[in-house]
Amino acid sequence: MGSIRVLPDVVASQVAAGEVVERPASVIKELVENSLDAGAKSLEVEVRGAGSVLLRVSDDGSGMDREDALLSLERHATSKLTSAADLATVRSMGFRGEALPSIASVSEFVLRTRQASASAGTEVVVKGGKIVAVREAGCAPGTTVEVNSLFFNVPARRKFLRSASTEAAHLDRAVETVALAFPGVAVHYRRDGRAVHRLPAATSLASRVADLYGAEERAALLEMPEAESQGVRVSGLVSRPGATRADRGRQFFFVNGRAVENVFLSTGLREAYRQMLEPGRHPSIFVHIVIDPQAVDCNVHPAKREVRFRHGAEVRESLRSAVEAALRQARADWLQPVRTHLTARIEPSAGYGSATRPFRVAHQPELPRPVMPESPPDPPGGPRTEGATPRVIAEEFRLVGALSRRYLLLEGGEGLVLLDQRAAHQRILFERLQRGVAGGGVAVQRLLAPAVFELPAREHEAVAGSLAVLAAAGFGVEVFGGRALKVEALPDFLAGRDPQRVMEEFAAAAVSGGAARLRGQAAEEVVRRAVARLALDEGGAKDEREQRALVTQLLACQLPYCDPDGRPVMLQFSWRELERKFGRD
Ligand code: ADP
Ligand code: MG
Repeated sequence: MGSIRVLPDVVASQVAAGEVVERPASVIKELVENSLDAGAKSLEVEVRGAGSVLLRVSDDGSGMDREDALLSLERHATSKLTSAADLATVRSMGFRGEALPSIASVSEFVLRTRQASASAGTEVVVKGGKIVAVREAGCAPGTTVEVNSLFFNVPARRKFLRSASTEAAHLDRAVETVALAFPGVAVHYRRDGRAVHRLPAATSLASRVADLYGAEERAALLEMPEAESQGVRVSGLVSRPGATRADRGRQFFFVNGRAVENVFLSTGLREAYRQMLEPGRHPSIFVHIVIDPQAVDCNVHPAKREVRFRHGAEVRESLRSAVEAALRQARADWLQPVRTHLTARIEPSAGYGSATRPFRVAHQPELPRPVMPESPPDPPGGPRTEGATPRVIAEEFRLVGALSRRYLLLEGGEGLVLLDQRAAHQRILFERLQRGVAGGGVAVQRLLAPAVFELPAREHEAVAGSLAVLAAAGFGVEVFGGRALKVEALPDFLAGRDPQRVMEEFAAAAVSGGAARLRGQAAEEVVRRAVARLALDEGGAKDEREQRALVTQLLACQLPYCDPDGRPVMLQFSWRELERKFGRD
């Protein structure tokens, strides 16, 4: 006796609903995607009781005639796909023809729709998948789908819903996602009778972000210069360094308008931010990626949340370079005014006597050339003479002094800058060593007498396996018998250090990092760890000359605002902020 049966349609839809309609937010997602596929320019979303009482989406899209309205409720009825081959090029959000019948099978469902050219619309009422009524209805052009009592006939699913606040958070996220995916579409969102968002059609993603999250959030983001490489177009916004969050709640990746999760994308973002993230912090990102539909498979997840790229590594690299470009640009923008002040205006602070020379970044020959005019303009009132009394102009930037030997105080045009000397030193050492390890060439200081010492076996092995890289970084090291090393030279910026201690730190970092050899990412990690231990231990720069050198070298770094672990190097306090704190605002 055969026990295999074909499921009645309603049951099949309820089973499908298990996959497509995970929770109330998935209903909103599916309905809103249908509206967008129908060309809507304006959406109204209303929910009550965290979605288990009511979910309603109204649009001003194409609408349907009576026949299509009925067809849309049948399984695998879709206007978007006619053959399997179409799947490869699908540009619409939907394509399986599953959402409406699935949703209608687990709710009390009303579809009201009208084409603009028609004199009247159609209303279809469905209860638990059974059509209860079909009638003519007076309604505006477009479509409204109303979902009442979700899961009323599937008590098991209802029980699995989380707390109202969790479901509401998912609903909010679903609406935010669509608003960010389609900035040009107006979105009104009401929850339990209260307007959560009234978003006008925006002309850019940046202004949509500002409307959605506020001007402050927008200001904490950098615009990625629009870039296209290898057929992948990337545009969007990403956190300024330091403006990161404790969660991933503001990470939105869109591929051809579809919100997706994909490991290549998250890795690309992380790699671009590599040295700028403290543990447990996450950058915000709102990014649109446009790619040939044939190079991406959207049909790998029931809710289409995940995609598979044909060339994942290329997508990752495109995203990474777009984020890096934004971060580089931010660095240049940030440093430009500081540099101008430093070269043109920095003054000796009163406490350091009059013999101090004006502070010029260009006098550091071994550093990469900073972006600035060759000879800085003289300040107003003619060239500065030595011994001039410090003046305070609004545009001044000067070294005020040290605070508890740990911090430096700088006064800039925009306010106060507090600089952590140890963090600054770590950043400087890190970049120099990194340049050396990457083969960038460094100046070498020969020791007066070679240092010979022994290291434990594992440490010795780590150094012995990395001689070439160490040589590139300016270390004159060779293996000198079983466990011994001979050091004849150090990179110049480590001159004066105890060679044994330096090698011990490197070896320890290599061993604890699990790297048998210094290479690529592993080398960078070893350098990071070693630097953390070699940087100024206590005290900081001894005198003003050293303090100035520190600031100069810091500002020549690629990423001056954070140490290699992502902690901030400098904190800025604007005049406004100070005034506010003193109650003068
Ligand atoms: P899919 O989106 O995968 O095609 P759905 O079940 O979500 O499947 O929708 C079925 C069909 O109903 C769609 O292909 C479309 O033709 C029509 N439809 C659904 N919602 C709307 C809407 N808001 N406006 C116009 N047509 C719609
Ligand atoms: Mg759909």
